[in-house]
Amino acid sequence: MKIIHSRSDLKSEIHGIKKSGESIGFVPTMGALHAGHVSLIKQSKSQTDFTICSIFVNPTQFTDLKDLERYPRPIESDIVKLNSAGCDLLFSPPVEEMYQEGEEWNIDLHPLDTLQEGAYRPGHFQGVTQIVYKFFSTIKPDKAFFGLKDYQQFLVIKKMVEIKKLKLEIIGCETIREEDGLAMSSRNVHLSQEERKAALLISESLFQLREEVYDVSLEVAKESALKKLKENHLLQTEYFEIVNAENLTPIHNINAAKSVIACTAVKVGSVRLIDNLLLK
Ligand code: AMP
Repeated sequence: MKIIHSRSDLKSEIHGIKKSGESIGFVPTMGALHAGHVSLIKQSKSQTDFTICSIFVNPTQFTDLKDLERYPRPIESDIVKLNSAGCDLLFSPPVEEMYQEGEEWNIDLHPLDTLQEGAYRPGHFQGVTQIVYKFFSTIKPDKAFFGLKDYQQFLVIKKMVEIKKLKLEIIGCETIREEDGLAMSSRNVHLSQEERKAALLISESLFQLREEVYDVSLEVAKESALKKLKENHLLQTEYFEIVNAENLTPIHNINAAKSVIACTAVKVGSVRLIDNLLLK
């Protein structure tokens, strides 16, 4: 696997790949890779000729400076994982390579950037789209792979591609979970043993909800999911919403939309985790 740190080296590499006629698959990440990330690499390898992964902890998408500072950065073990997944190229630039002083970015993501994550992390999706647009512009991938674990991010990226009229396909890949159901996340390493146990209630509440939605009203099913999340004092639910999966607008009846998803963000001690489950 080639490892590149500068945008100019990446550009000339891309030039060569495009010239040879190979299709490019791109997997953006912030590193601290786990099986979820590896599944995106595998998807890319199965659908394109040349797979590029980026590792970049993007400062503009963090609303909590502490979260940014303590974000795990185990680059050596990430390289081992990418190599064994068969990734062709790793792009891991320093911050100065991606941003200049006083840069501005503003894209109209309304209403997606004010709902759910957007409400709790103002400016987060501006930061996400800012960096992903930079990557897309340099790499010009044929396909880019995003985890459905960050479902709102997936919708936001698709919207940006539409607004900017970019010629690439955005592929959503299913959430990879630990054996007991907890969605894999780079932030899980921060959980103490006790918190790890408590965190399991997040996926359990979603699975329980999926079981119940056709038997009782959404309101009742949601109430019992919220009750489950209250079973452990270490959990603090920020939001738990049942929405139309196409645009994240709330729904009150399972039959009110073609596809329905439940999305939640929960603080486990000081670790903020998100998860979601397609109900229909
Ligand atoms: P991150 O490094 O957390 O920014 O994530 C990079 C990419 O991996 C994003 O597209 C995420 O949605 C995706 N991802 C993170 N966790 C998982 C997971 N458990 N299963 C599948 N994809 C994931």
